[in-house]
Amino acid sequence: MKIVMCASEVVPFAKTGGLADVAGALPLALEAEGQEIIIVMPKYKMIQETKFNLKRLKNDILYSTLGKNIKVYFIEKESFYGRDSLYGDKTGDYPDNLERFSYYCKRALELLKEINFKPDIIHVHDWQACLIPVYLRNLYAQDSFYKNTRTVLTIHNIGYQGLFPKEEFPKLDLAWSVFDIEGLEFYGKINILKGGMVYSDIINTVSPTYSKEIQTQEFGFGLEGVLNKRKNSVFGILNGLDYTIWNPETDKFIASNFSAKNLSGKAKDKEDLQAFCKLPLKKDVPLFGVVSRLAEQKGFDIVAEGIDEICNMDLQLVILGTGDLKYHQIMEEMVKKHPKVISLHLKFDDALAHKIYAGSDLFLMPSKYEPCGLGQLISLRYATIPLVFKTGGLADTVNKDNGFIFDRYSKDALIGTIESSIQAFKNKNKWNKLLNTAINADFSWGESAKKYLDLYMKARNSRTFGCCEKSACCRKK
Ligand code: ADP
Repeated sequence: MKIVMCASEVVPFAKTGGLADVAGALPLALEAEGQEIIIVMPKYKMIQETKFNLKRLKNDILYSTLGKNIKVYFIEKESFYGRDSLYGDKTGDYPDNLERFSYYCKRALELLKEINFKPDIIHVHDWQACLIPVYLRNLYAQDSFYKNTRTVLTIHNIGYQGLFPKEEFPKLDLAWSVFDIEGLEFYGKINILKGGMVYSDIINTVSPTYSKEIQTQEFGFGLEGVLNKRKNSVFGILNGLDYTIWNPETDKFIASNFSAKNLSGKAKDKEDLQAFCKLPLKKDVPLFGVVSRLAEQKGFDIVAEGIDEICNMDLQLVILGTGDLKYHQIMEEMVKKHPKVISLHLKFDDALAHKIYAGSDLFLMPSKYEPCGLGQLISLRYATIPLVFKTGGLADTVNKDNGFIFDRYSKDALIGTIESSIQAFKNKNKWNKLLNTAINADFSWGESAKKYLDLYMKARNSRTFGCCEKSACCRKK
């Protein structure tokens, strides 16, 4: 099959979260399955031409290679992508994000024609790429080049929808009929993710549980009705993990490598992390790690509520992440109050993340909702026991044999579960069993890639795109 992967961030070129990990690793796994695949993404300032050996194809197009032979095309436009960040700065989202990402989508579709890559599947990720299925079924509806192209949309987090004022609609070059309740209109605003959900052939999310959760009012962020209408085209496939990057046997960032057969290096990694964080070098106190956005979604509301109590428990805590300023401030206060217990790193730091995954005993990830979650998968791989709230991908991957899980979202349930995990840590037999189950779990991409191929086949066999067949666009077909 000929597949195009369209995502606004892709490892190793640009990353702010799990989307980039998936968009970088899934193509490699698909290539290993014998598929022909290319990637198209914006050329951000941070993607240095020398570092990634970029070559120029056209005035505004560069390319590089991933895996054996996956071409990655970068769309260059200095005024849109030549900025320090991907989506926004300290003051919030960039005000021209609609133009930035509609340009990306349009240019991607033109580029495929220019390089004569006639895709069977265009796999789009999150709202930034969602205008691709919208344009395909509107601007390109009569274009024979895309006659047999089908689209798959992966929603990595339904909380981020790409909402813009109605007045900006003309910037999209779409007929006003598309700004309709059966199209991009959402309570008087433009909702780009909704557009992707309406116009793509197949919709999937990154875990089976989350695919069901988002069809409910509690987790659907207002889009549950749209998903319900398309429920026969909604699927959930668990993300895999790139085990070439996340491998304690070969990891270059950690003090001592270790494996499922010989875990002894992990103790050195803990000592190294404690020393780096200027925490007391204690073997018998459980060290909890956090690598996360500091956001309510990640459970920081209940962590913040209980942080003083947590710091008074017999544990150490290392937090790496950035996010809401209010959580930055609360955690900074705690560092002043409990300097020997908590170590705080308010930044994005890949090397330190590796050290935390390897050197911690437990990984704290009490997300309020979690589409899939990579943190818990990485921590399992490093025999660091996850402590999670039972939701989405966390519910699909963590259980009492490899971690700690609570099913009532509250500060008290969190504290109670931390307490139980501290007790378990003191029981050597129980702890070793947990460590072994965790590190031997297999969340590599192989199985998930096969499931994506099945999904692509479903999309190819779909009679028409799964839209309502009532709206203007469908009637036209
Ligand atoms: P998200 O909702 O943010 O995408 P995931 O758990 O799916 O959450 O993926 C987050 C990814 O980003 C993981 O690979 C995690 O290790 C990484 N990450 C998050 N915050 C940081 C940080 N401050 N420094 C380094 N890596 C980070």
